[in-house]
Amino acid sequence: MTSPGTASAPLGTDGALVVVGGGPAGAVMALYLARQGYQVQVLESRQDLRRHDVDAGRSINLALARRGIVPLTELGVFDRVEPITIPMAGRIVHGIDGSTNFQPYGLGGEAILSVSRPGLNAILLDAAEETGNVSIEFGQRCRGVDWDEKLIVFTDTDNDDQMTQVPFGTLFGCDGANSEVRQAMQRVNGGTTTIEPLDHGYKELEIPAGPDGAFRLGPGGLHIWPRGQLMLIALANPGGDFTVTLFMPFDTPAGKDQPTGFDDLPDLTSAEAFFAREFPDFVELVPDAAEQFMANPTGDLGTVRCTGWSRAGDGVILGDAAHAIVPFHGQGMNAAMESARLLSRRIAESGDDPDHAFTVFEMDRKPDVDAIADMALDNYIEMRAGVADPDYLIKRELALELERRYPDVMAARYGMVMFTTMPYHEVQQRAAEQQRILTELVAGVDSVDQIDFDRARKLLGALGPLPAEV
Ligand SMILES: Cc1cc2nc3c(=O)[nH]c(=O)nc-3n(C[C@H](O)[C@H](O)[C@H](O)COP(=O)(O)OP(=O)(O)OC[C@H]3O[C@@H](n4cnc5c(N)ncnc54)[C@H](O)[C@@H]3O)c2cc1C
Repeated sequence: MTSPGTASAPLGTDGALVVVGGGPAGAVMALYLARQGYQVQVLESRQDLRRHDVDAGRSINLALARRGIVPLTELGVFDRVEPITIPMAGRIVHGIDGSTNFQPYGLGGEAILSVSRPGLNAILLDAAEETGNVSIEFGQRCRGVDWDEKLIVFTDTDNDDQMTQVPFGTLFGCDGANSEVRQAMQRVNGGTTTIEPLDHGYKELEIPAGPDGAFRLGPGGLHIWPRGQLMLIALANPGGDFTVTLFMPFDTPAGKDQPTGFDDLPDLTSAEAFFAREFPDFVELVPDAAEQFMANPTGDLGTVRCTGWSRAGDGVILGDAAHAIVPFHGQGMNAAMESARLLSRRIAESGDDPDHAFTVFEMDRKPDVDAIADMALDNYIEMRAGVADPDYLIKRELALELERRYPDVMAARYGMVMFTTMPYHEVQQRAAEQQRILTELVAGVDSVDQIDFDRARKLLGALGPLPAEV
């Protein structure tokens, strides 16, 4: 990095703006830059998902929340995205006995939106091209960066991996969790990366649509089958089917006497026994669950924490490249798009000095992405176990009652993450303080009727008012 105060060349005056990666972060970044009048070149390693099925085996639908909706709205594309979404207003928890319990996400019917990953990405790529300022090339895999010569090395997957060099003025690394740009950058800027792999993985399954495209479960919520060390979740798609994700340890956890880990279910017989034991109502709905389990790949999950997001004013990383998180808060893509929004704001404020814009962006954003990384890990424990736990349920009921009575001082963490743009680190701090108060209030209490609400109001009041947005 150049030292603060040493201005780098204004953005766009010293060569092309190149975005590596055309996923959510790259496409939204390109759109913001295009809207600010810059010419942008996007280079993406995969084939064009508008013409090829490139997402096979990856999560097909995602939860879109406020932090993603705000940039899409600012960019004028949310009107095109909304029709392909399905609102989910709460969790629908499936017990082992086949019972279901709906837990609303908020008091005002707030909903997160199930959206097709390729459907959303296609809308973003179309919108970027329609600006007339963005060109997109596919089949271009970044292999490294020569910062002195300002060249990016690509291999062309359509042409026998032929090597090409693309000159750049400013490089935006949006190439996902295994970012080549991040690695190239950190070789020269002294940054560090920690990759924390999770000892749980995931596998996608499908609940097919019923006759005439009918949903075979209610589509208005996120279905969860919590089972302690593991869980299934299902999100509806507009075609009547559901994308199901099984999250589970790789190895059977200690204390389990039956195989309950991806690596311990090697054949159809063991997989059938596993589903019959853990998810009997799911097997009634999806009789070939074990066959799907055997046929589909197992994915890894992990958290990427890194420093050194920029190289002088020459390049910056964002999205999963800088801050990949586990998917249990449904925030990775939302955070990636929010990062593009915040970076574009920094550029608008100091585009004449990109080094300054990038440095301030990292300084501001790093505490927030660290906070959501932690909260996403916490939420896994809550989703797979806590949602069915009595202590969790009384605290949740009390939290909702407190929100109803005192909305100026009480808001659930989930809602602050999903339905506001309050900085993540502030959400984390506030939620920790509220949690401490909830624990204090429920001590020795069996039901919410026994709570001393005057005391609750006093304790919450001491935290100060919530931001108006909440
Ligand atoms: C199972 C699962 C469920 C999830 N659910 C949710 C959810 O509900 N809500 C949510 O907000 N997030 C969710 N996420 C997280 C979300 O998928 C990511 O955070 C999001 O896709 C990050 O966007 P990105 O553009 O930074 O990276 P990516 O989506 O990874 O995009 C990177 C792009 O760069 C391209 N690329 C990679 N390497 C190169 C290279 N060397 N050269 C050129 N191009 C390259 C890739 O092909 C890709 O198009 C989930 C993730 C998983 C695994």
